Amino acid sequence: MLTDLKQSVFEANLALHKSGLVLLTWGNVSGLDRESGLVAIKPSGVSYAEMRPEQMVIVDLQGTVVEGELRPSSDTPTHLELYRSFPSLGGIAHTHSTYATAWAQARRPLPCFGTTHADNFRGEVPVTAELTPEALAGDYELETGKAIVQAFAERDPLQVPGVLVACHGPFTWGPTPAAAVENSLVLEYVAQMAAVAESLSPGLSCISCGLQDKHFLRKHGKDAYYGQK
Ligand SMILES: [Zn+2]
Repeated sequence: MLTDLKQSVFEANLALHKSGLVLLTWGNVSGLDRESGLVAIKPSGVSYAEMRPEQMVIVDLQGTVVEGELRPSSDTPTHLELYRSFPSLGGIAHTHSTYATAWAQARRPLPCFGTTHADNFRGEVPVTAELTPEALAGDYELETGKAIVQAFAERDPLQVPGVLVACHGPFTWGPTPAAAVENSLVLEYVAQMAAVAESLSPGLSCISCGLQDKHFLRKHGKDAYYGQK
């Protein structure tokens, strides 16, 4: 079932590992097949060296395992909440990459200090609220997803394809599992540059809205002109 989706999710998980953003098994990627409403996701705790495409677990959007011998990633309820709430997503990735996680641990949104950020994220990358004791006592991974959705109440998830979960780390997404992984790489890169820039110039302010929009819109949207037609 969904052989192509399982293959693309498998390849995206390997790409995430090869990128160096993931230590041990601390990362996961999923992909959604919009037509069937089914999600393929990495199995929980399986090493990347031993992972095979057929081990990707297929779940429906309510979290019922439809196909697979192994347990899905423990973060599956977070991924599913994002797919249910953001209909444009086709892939989601999660890491504990160093700099993005450092901003998440500082519980600070990632400010737009330069055009590399603006090329990829329109405005700051938000940080979620911390989970309440009630949320922690409930379905933790689902509540994490809800906190992310709340952070996007006034944002377009395709214009800001990532988030910092307070005290935890980044989730990124895109139209495909591969795009979600690419955004994990970009987020880590801009998080590192922002940390260095701020250490060089404490109190540094964001670049102007005009410059942010110029860079985001020349790469994205209907009038984009970056790259080849
Ligand atoms: Zn995590």
